[in-house]
Amino acid sequence: MRHFEFAAGLVAWSAFIFLAITSIRELRALFYELFLYIHIVFQAVAMGFLFFHHASAQIYVGIALGIWIIDRIVYRCYLKRFYTTCKITVLPDGTTARVTIDLRSAISEKDIVQWKTGDHFFLTIPAVSSFQNHPFSVASLPPPHSATMDFIIRSQEGFSKRLLRASDSDDISLAAIIDGPYGSSHAVSCLEDSATAVLIAGGSGIAAVYPLAREMKLREDTKRIILVWIIHEGVQQEWLKPDDIQTLRDANVEVTVYVTKGVARPDLRDIVQDLVVDGDDDSVGIVVCGPDGMIRDVRNTVARLLWKGYNVGLVSEKYGW
Ligand SMILES: Cc1cc2nc3c(=O)[nH]c(=O)nc-3n(C[C@H](O)[C@H](O)[C@H](O)COP(=O)(O)OP(=O)(O)OC[C@H]3O[C@@H](n4cnc5c(N)ncnc54)[C@H](O)[C@@H]3O)c2cc1C
Repeated sequence: MRHFEFAAGLVAWSAFIFLAITSIRELRALFYELFLYIHIVFQAVAMGFLFFHHASAQIYVGIALGIWIIDRIVYRCYLKRFYTTCKITVLPDGTTARVTIDLRSAISEKDIVQWKTGDHFFLTIPAVSSFQNHPFSVASLPPPHSATMDFIIRSQEGFSKRLLRASDSDDISLAAIIDGPYGSSHAVSCLEDSATAVLIAGGSGIAAVYPLAREMKLREDTKRIILVWIIHEGVQQEWLKPDDIQTLRDANVEVTVYVTKGVARPDLRDIVQDLVVDGDDDSVGIVVCGPDGMIRDVRNTVARLLWKGYNVGLVSEKYGW
């Protein structure tokens, strides 16, 4: 092997090692945007030098590049990208915004956005940042059940905080690019295949869970549906639109909202256990979306129940990867 090929291999190897180190979950959580840029740049470096390292690697680098180009340009930049405007409303708790896209404002056939309940989109708001896109669950039902696409966005430290800061006055409209839909039908199938559907949300997890409760009611009016929403402060109930909870209750969905400020959190292990063990039905499907600890509690409880022979299905939706 010539000296250059050996050196190229060394650079490619180092770049892959660096990629692996900078992809560690804790680093991603702390510096997500930096992680993303490092990942893209060093992936290109690694693949570029791998190409020159050995002739037999060139076909694989070529195929990988081809797939990447098709994904990025054809799929994400053309087929899945929608240019629109959105209305941003800062909600009463002051740290959450509702982003609303009026689906009736679609200019052409190509701009009519379709999605399935439970899906998420990547949202770019050029007025806040042209280079960042962030995933958010669609908190409203797909057309024709809703004329708007709604997102409930909690302020963190980066894009979301700047979004709220950019809209701290009255409702404002900003240009937006949405890329999607993405997601799976696991949650809908798990709930649909069960006699009792249990939806558990922690905080902004309601964005992923609320439309599922509505969807289940639309699909099967007789199904027993239970929604448990745990929030820290009562004002956070205004993340949903005024009638949203009542709409569910009017449809015989059993909705319980726990406000935990100043009181002990409800024990989800007991709640899930009781719903499964004391429930009349022989199969229970559970979808949970919320903080890691909440998901862990539900998962461990379901594992114990499965071990005891109960027919329980579980899908956990996490706001992160
Ligand atoms: C499938 C999915 C659905 C989501 N749905 C919602 C929702 O409906 N409402 C809501 O408030 N939040 C949702 N989130 C989380 C939301 O994407 C992040 O809170 C947001 O990207 C934070 O951006 P930031 O720049 O303000 O965050 P930062 O303050 O920079 O980071 C806060 C946290 O968000 C993570 N994060 C930052 N950027 C991204 C990104 N582009 N992709 C994934 N994670 C990122 C970081 O790792 C960190 O853990 C969802 C996440 C995923 C993966």
